[in-house]
Amino acid sequence: MQGERRGPRLLLAEDDPELAGMLVELLTSEGYTVDALADGQSALHRALAGGYDVAVLDRGLPYVEGLELLARLRRAGWATPVLVLSAYGTAQDRVAGLDAGAEDYLAKPFDVEELLARLRALLRRHLDTAETLPVPGGRLDPRARTVTSPPTEPGDARGTVELSARESALLAVLAGRPSQVYAREDLLNRVFPDAEAANVVDTYVSYLRRKLGRGVIRTVHGVGYQLGRPQG
Ligand code: CA
Repeated sequence: MQGERRGPRLLLAEDDPELAGMLVELLTSEGYTVDALADGQSALHRALAGGYDVAVLDRGLPYVEGLELLARLRRAGWATPVLVLSAYGTAQDRVAGLDAGAEDYLAKPFDVEELLARLRALLRRHLDTAETLPVPGGRLDPRARTVTSPPTEPGDARGTVELSARESALLAVLAGRPSQVYAREDLLNRVFPDAEAANVVDTYVSYLRRKLGRGVIRTVHGVGYQLGRPQG
Protein backbone atom coordinates (compact mmCIF):
# COMPACT_ATOMS: atom_id res chain seq x y z
CA MET A 1 0.00 0.00 0.00
CA GLN A 2 1.35 3.40 -0.88
CA GLY A 3 2.06 5.61 2.14
CA GLU A 4 -0.22 8.61 2.29
CA ARG A 5 1.60 11.87 2.86
CA ARG A 6 0.60 12.92 6.35
CA GLY A 7 0.52 16.40 7.83
CA PRO A 8 1.97 17.26 11.24
CA ARG A 9 0.67 15.15 14.13
CA LEU A 10 -1.07 17.32 16.69
CA LEU A 11 -2.13 16.38 20.22
CA LEU A 12 -5.16 18.33 21.42
CA ALA A 13 -6.27 18.32 25.07
CA GLU A 14 -9.54 20.23 25.47
CA ASP A 15 -12.46 19.26 27.70
CA ASP A 16 -15.07 21.56 26.17
CA PRO A 17 -16.70 19.21 23.63
CA GLU A 18 -17.98 22.00 21.41
CA LEU A 19 -14.62 23.76 21.19
CA ALA A 20 -12.78 20.44 20.80
CA GLY A 21 -15.07 19.43 17.93
CA MET A 22 -14.58 22.77 16.20
CA LEU A 23 -10.79 22.57 16.60
CA VAL A 24 -10.57 18.99 15.33
CA GLU A 25 -12.55 19.98 12.24
CA LEU A 26 -10.51 23.13 11.64
CA LEU A 27 -7.10 21.53 12.22
CA THR A 28 -7.93 18.44 10.16
CA SER A 29 -9.04 20.66 7.27
CA GLU A 30 -5.66 22.43 7.59
CA GLY A 31 -3.85 19.12 7.09
CA TYR A 32 -3.06 18.18 10.70
CA THR A 33 -3.52 14.64 11.95
CA VAL A 34 -5.28 15.31 15.27
CA ASP A 35 -5.61 13.17 18.39
CA ALA A 36 -8.10 14.82 20.75
CA LEU A 37 -8.28 13.99 24.47
CA ALA A 38 -10.77 15.45 26.93
CA ASP A 39 -8.79 15.13 30.19
CA GLY A 40 -5.26 15.62 31.47
CA GLN A 41 -4.68 12.01 32.51
CA SER A 42 -5.38 10.49 29.10
CA ALA A 43 -3.50 13.32 27.40
CA LEU A 44 -0.45 12.53 29.58
CA HIS A 45 -0.46 8.88 28.59
CA ARG A 46 -1.06 9.59 24.93
CA ALA A 47 1.67 12.25 24.86
CA LEU A 48 4.22 9.90 26.45
CA ALA A 49 3.48 7.32 23.77
CA GLY A 50 5.11 9.90 21.53
CA GLY A 51 5.22 10.87 17.90
CA TYR A 52 3.70 14.37 18.04
CA ASP A 53 4.98 17.41 16.16
CA VAL A 54 3.00 19.98 18.15
CA ALA A 55 0.43 20.08 20.96
CA VAL A 56 -2.44 22.38 21.99
CA LEU A 57 -3.32 22.06 25.68
CA ASP A 58 -6.24 23.71 27.43
CA ARG A 59 -5.24 25.05 30.82
CA GLY A 60 -8.37 23.95 32.68
CA LEU A 61 -8.56 20.17 32.26
CA PRO A 62 -10.08 17.50 34.51
CA TYR A 63 -7.86 15.03 36.49
CA VAL A 64 -4.54 16.66 35.63
CA GLU A 65 -4.83 20.37 34.84
CA GLY A 66 -3.09 21.75 31.77
CA LEU A 67 0.00 23.33 33.33
CA GLU A 68 0.60 20.38 35.66
CA LEU A 69 0.28 18.09 32.64
CA LEU A 70 2.80 20.18 30.75
CA ALA A 71 5.24 20.34 33.66
CA ARG A 72 5.08 16.54 34.05
CA LEU A 73 5.71 16.05 30.34
CA ARG A 74 8.69 18.41 30.38
CA ARG A 75 10.17 16.63 33.43
CA ALA A 76 9.89 13.40 31.46
CA GLY A 77 11.97 14.96 28.67
CA TRP A 78 9.01 15.45 26.33
CA ALA A 79 10.25 17.92 23.72
CA THR A 80 7.16 18.58 21.56
CA PRO A 81 6.35 22.32 21.22
CA VAL A 82 3.20 23.31 23.10
CA LEU A 83 0.65 26.08 22.77
CA VAL A 84 -1.47 26.56 25.90
CA LEU A 85 -5.05 27.81 25.61
CA SER A 86 -6.48 29.59 28.59
CA ALA A 87 -9.68 31.29 29.63
CA TYR A 88 -7.56 33.78 31.59
CA GLY A 89 -5.53 36.29 29.71
CA THR A 90 -3.55 38.09 32.39
CA ALA A 91 0.20 38.63 32.28
CA GLN A 92 0.74 36.36 35.34
CA ASP A 93 -1.29 33.69 33.63
CA ARG A 94 0.89 33.90 30.54
CA VAL A 95 4.08 33.79 32.62
CA ALA A 96 2.81 30.70 34.49
CA GLY A 97 2.21 29.00 31.15
CA LEU A 98 5.64 29.81 29.80
CA ASP A 99 7.26 28.78 33.12
CA ALA A 100 5.56 25.39 32.92
CA GLY A 101 7.29 24.82 29.59
CA ALA A 102 4.88 26.21 26.97
CA GLU A 103 6.34 27.76 23.83
CA ASP A 104 3.27 29.90 23.25
CA TYR A 105 0.10 30.97 24.95
CA LEU A 106 -3.27 32.09 23.63
CA ALA A 107 -6.19 33.48 25.65
CA LYS A 108 -9.76 32.38 24.94
CA PRO A 109 -11.73 33.44 23.00
CA PHE A 110 -9.17 33.42 20.20
CA ASP A 111 -9.24 34.03 16.50
CA VAL A 112 -8.83 30.75 14.61
CA GLU A 113 -6.56 32.36 12.02
CA GLU A 114 -4.29 33.52 14.82
CA LEU A 115 -4.20 30.00 16.30
CA LEU A 116 -3.27 28.52 12.92
CA ALA A 117 -0.57 31.14 12.33
CA ARG A 118 0.96 30.50 15.75
CA LEU A 119 0.97 26.74 15.20
CA ARG A 120 2.74 27.20 11.86
CA ALA A 121 5.31 29.43 13.57
CA LEU A 122 5.85 26.85 16.34
CA LEU A 123 6.40 24.05 13.84
CA ARG A 124 8.85 26.16 11.83
CA ARG A 125 10.79 27.33 14.85
CA HIS A 126 10.95 23.84 16.25
CA LEU A 127 12.37 22.42 13.03
CA ASP A 128 15.05 25.13 13.09
CA THR A 129 16.09 24.66 16.69
CA ALA A 130 15.35 21.02 17.44
CA GLU A 131 17.48 20.34 20.50
CA THR A 132 19.81 17.42 20.89
CA LEU A 133 21.48 16.29 24.10
CA PRO A 134 24.97 14.83 24.43
CA VAL A 135 25.06 11.20 25.62
CA PRO A 136 28.06 8.83 25.75
CA GLY A 137 28.91 7.98 22.16
CA GLY A 138 26.60 10.43 20.40
CA ARG A 139 23.72 12.88 20.64
CA LEU A 140 20.13 12.15 21.60
CA ASP A 141 17.38 13.84 19.60
CA PRO A 142 14.36 13.41 21.92
CA ARG A 143 11.92 14.48 19.22
CA ALA A 144 13.17 12.12 16.52
CA ARG A 145 13.92 9.52 19.26
CA THR A 146 17.34 8.72 17.83
CA VAL A 147 20.92 8.65 19.03
CA THR A 148 23.38 9.64 16.33
CA SER A 149 27.09 8.92 16.66
CA PRO A 150 29.70 11.02 14.91
CA PRO A 151 31.89 9.19 12.38
CA THR A 152 34.94 7.60 14.04
CA GLU A 153 37.01 7.86 10.87
CA PRO A 154 36.68 10.22 7.92
CA GLY A 155 34.28 8.70 5.43
CA ASP A 156 32.41 6.60 8.03
CA ALA A 157 28.67 6.74 7.86
CA ARG A 158 27.10 8.32 10.95
CA GLY A 159 25.41 5.63 12.96
CA THR A 160 21.85 6.27 14.02
CA VAL A 161 20.07 4.14 16.62
CA GLU A 162 16.29 4.37 16.90
CA LEU A 163 14.70 4.36 20.35
CA SER A 164 11.17 3.72 21.55
CA ALA A 165 9.26 6.64 23.09
CA ARG A 166 9.94 5.44 26.65
CA GLU A 167 13.61 4.64 26.01
CA SER A 168 14.06 8.11 24.58
CA ALA A 169 12.18 9.75 27.46
CA LEU A 170 14.27 7.88 30.07
CA LEU A 171 17.55 8.77 28.38
CA ALA A 172 16.42 12.41 27.95
CA VAL A 173 15.81 12.75 31.71
CA LEU A 174 19.29 11.39 32.50
CA ALA A 175 20.96 13.43 29.74
CA GLY A 176 19.18 16.62 30.81
CA ARG A 177 21.19 16.66 34.07
CA PRO A 178 24.26 14.47 33.52
CA SER A 179 25.74 15.11 36.97
CA GLN A 180 22.62 14.02 38.85
CA VAL A 181 22.04 10.54 40.22
CA TYR A 182 18.33 9.70 39.91
CA ALA A 183 16.57 7.31 42.28
CA ARG A 184 14.58 4.53 40.61
CA GLU A 185 11.37 5.90 42.14
CA ASP A 186 12.08 9.32 40.71
CA LEU A 187 12.64 7.92 37.21
CA LEU A 188 9.51 5.81 37.60
CA ASN A 189 7.42 8.90 38.41
CA ARG A 190 8.90 10.96 35.63
CA VAL A 191 8.92 8.50 32.75
CA PHE A 192 6.48 5.72 33.62
CA PRO A 193 3.68 7.41 35.59
CA ASP A 194 1.29 4.58 34.74
CA ALA A 195 3.63 1.68 35.61
CA GLU A 196 2.99 -0.44 38.69
CA ALA A 197 6.41 -1.95 39.37
CA ALA A 198 9.65 0.01 39.84
CA ASN A 199 11.61 -2.67 37.97
CA VAL A 200 10.25 -1.27 34.70
CA VAL A 201 13.07 1.30 35.09
CA ASP A 202 15.70 -1.48 35.25
CA THR A 203 14.12 -3.13 32.22
CA TYR A 204 14.38 0.05 30.16
CA VAL A 205 17.93 0.70 31.35
CA SER A 206 18.84 -2.74 30.01
CA TYR A 207 17.09 -2.02 26.68
CA LEU A 208 19.10 1.19 26.33
CA ARG A 209 22.37 -0.56 27.20
CA ARG A 210 21.65 -3.25 24.64
CA LYS A 211 21.12 -0.62 21.95
CA LEU A 212 23.79 1.90 22.94
CA GLY A 213 26.41 0.00 24.91
CA ARG A 214 26.77 -0.66 28.63
CA GLY A 215 28.49 2.66 29.26
CA VAL A 216 25.50 4.78 28.28
CA ILE A 217 24.01 4.60 31.78
CA ARG A 218 25.89 4.21 35.05
CA THR A 219 24.41 2.18 37.93
CA VAL A 220 24.94 3.86 41.29
CA HIS A 221 24.49 0.96 43.67
CA GLY A 222 21.87 1.42 46.33
CA VAL A 223 20.77 4.73 44.80
CA GLY A 224 19.76 4.54 41.17
CA TYR A 225 21.07 5.63 37.81
CA GLN A 226 23.09 8.38 36.19
CA LEU A 227 24.06 9.19 32.63
CA GLY A 228 27.31 7.41 31.73
CA ARG A 229 30.55 9.34 31.48
CA PRO A 230 31.61 10.66 28.08
CA GLN A 231 33.82 8.23 26.18
CA GLY A 232 37.30 8.86 24.88
CA1 CA B 1 -11.33 23.64 29.99
